[in-house]
Amino acid sequence: MGGSGEPRKASGRVSARALKQRLESLADAGIADLPRASSRAARNAPAAGQSSMKAAGQSSGKASGKAASPAPAPEQLLDVIRGEVAACVRCEQLACTRTNTVFGTGPATARLCFFGEAPGADEDASGIPFVGRAGQLLTKIIEACTLSRDEVYILNVLKCRPPENRPPLPQEVANCREYFERQLAAIAPEFICCLGTTAAQALLQTDEPIGKLRGRWFTHGSAEVICTYHPSYLLRNPNAKRHVWDDMKILLARMGVDL
Ligand code: SF4
Repeated sequence: MGGSGEPRKASGRVSARALKQRLESLADAGIADLPRASSRAARNAPAAGQSSMKAAGQSSGKASGKAASPAPAPEQLLDVIRGEVAACVRCEQLACTRTNTVFGTGPATARLCFFGEAPGADEDASGIPFVGRAGQLLTKIIEACTLSRDEVYILNVLKCRPPENRPPLPQEVANCREYFERQLAAIAPEFICCLGTTAAQALLQTDEPIGKLRGRWFTHGSAEVICTYHPSYLLRNPNAKRHVWDDMKILLARMGVDL
């Protein structure tokens, strides 16, 4: 796996404080059970073939370019797209009502991307995805997975807030597709976790409901894709947290992350 996409150092002895925080995150995320730990050595080790998939994608880009002009770094590609998004007015209504565009956050070589729907009021005000109540729950879920927000990339289908948080219109998704596709291509994650119906249907270009998409593996480019419920749905339906945790266990097992 390339660069900073290798998110975790080998874990040492866990402090009582860290253990307490972890247990609180698990409780907040609605998690009551933990799978048996597998080999600690496998933590964050890519599943067989995945590292080579990503490496092959990156090296093939270099191989196809001219030797005198190396491929831009993912950070550079993201900066270019971020600038285009900031000036975008393709969706007239959204461009007129937004406070900020909300591009995405995280390391440009993250191994895992969380892909949501669209900014809400808090995200529109801050320019940062998933910072409201649903975002705080996503943070709890990430921490319950023994990861942190600093080591995953978080982005949405739409970069601008729909008024009154209405669902994105099909034309708006179509307008913004170029941006999220280029964004994901620049990051080249090994795994993408779609959060909710809009994200899953947009990425996989399907009409299937989230209830039928979750718990299964798909591919997008060189990434393996899993879908689960959006944290906003969990705020309205806390009983669904156990389903999200089931999906996270499937994801983490594939990533080789111990719990
Ligand atoms: S949602 Fe996407 S396509 Fe629409 S105005 Fe914002 S950046 Fe442009």
